[in-house]
Amino acid sequence: DVLLRDVRKQYGSQAVIHGVSLELRHREFIVFVGPSGCGKSTLLRMIAGLEEVSGGEISIGGRRVNDTPAGDRGIAMVFQNYALYPHMTAAGNMAFGLRNIGTPRAEIEERVASAAKTLQIEHLLNRRPSQMSGGQRQRIAIGRAIVRRPDVFLFDEPLSNLDAALRVQMRVELVQLHQRLEATSIYVTHDQVEAMTMADRIVVFRDGRIEQVGTPLEVYRSPANTFVAGFMGAPK
Ligand code: ATP
Ligand code: MG
Repeated sequence: DVLLRDVRKQYGSQAVIHGVSLELRHREFIVFVGPSGCGKSTLLRMIAGLEEVSGGEISIGGRRVNDTPAGDRGIAMVFQNYALYPHMTAAGNMAFGLRNIGTPRAEIEERVASAAKTLQIEHLLNRRPSQMSGGQRQRIAIGRAIVRRPDVFLFDEPLSNLDAALRVQMRVELVQLHQRLEATSIYVTHDQVEAMTMADRIVVFRDGRIEQVGTPLEVYRSPANTFVAGFMGAPK
């Protein structure tokens, strides 16, 4: 469903993604892990269309999207810092992207109401981000992604600012949401437990390259090398 073929990224003379090839199956939940600076966010932003690729090809649903604008890729991304507009209400934040692409008003309202119900944020719709907790903001950010009805969700460490209890609850909710919406998801995390419990397959990165792709059990039981073993071994 999402196909990466020899995808590369250079910033000036510095190569940060060195030819990554990967096939994501429809409805798969893929988790990217790897040390800070290995290129996880850069790759996600290239798939989202927020960053140009320096080489290689990205296809979504069988269509080459290298030159397709972010808004036309059928993708929605959720960021670590939520990236909500501070001057808009929760409902305004959720509706904004749909207004931009000319979705009829009645349909916007219906989609926002339905996402709010799913995420149990109906009581927050008239609040601004500054009037909400981190966990509530995070739900609004997820709501904003859902209303676009994307084929592909990209999550960049969406739970890292939440406390432990809420993080555990949201892990379960996000996987359920992914299944219910029949989406394909890529999820970046630093948290081995998140990777082990949420992923259909885990992709382990190091220095802009893939070290291993496998199910949580494969990566845990049969690491490809000592790096993967050290990274995905028992949490320290
Ligand atoms: P983290 O786990 O800390 O979020 P990451 O795996 O997401 O790390 P990236 O943010 O993708 O890493 O960064 C990969 C590399 O690209 C890093 O060396 C970073 O310094 C570099 N980089 C990222 N964005 C830019 C940019 N706009 N200009 C120059 N270098 C950049
Ligand atoms: Mg990152």
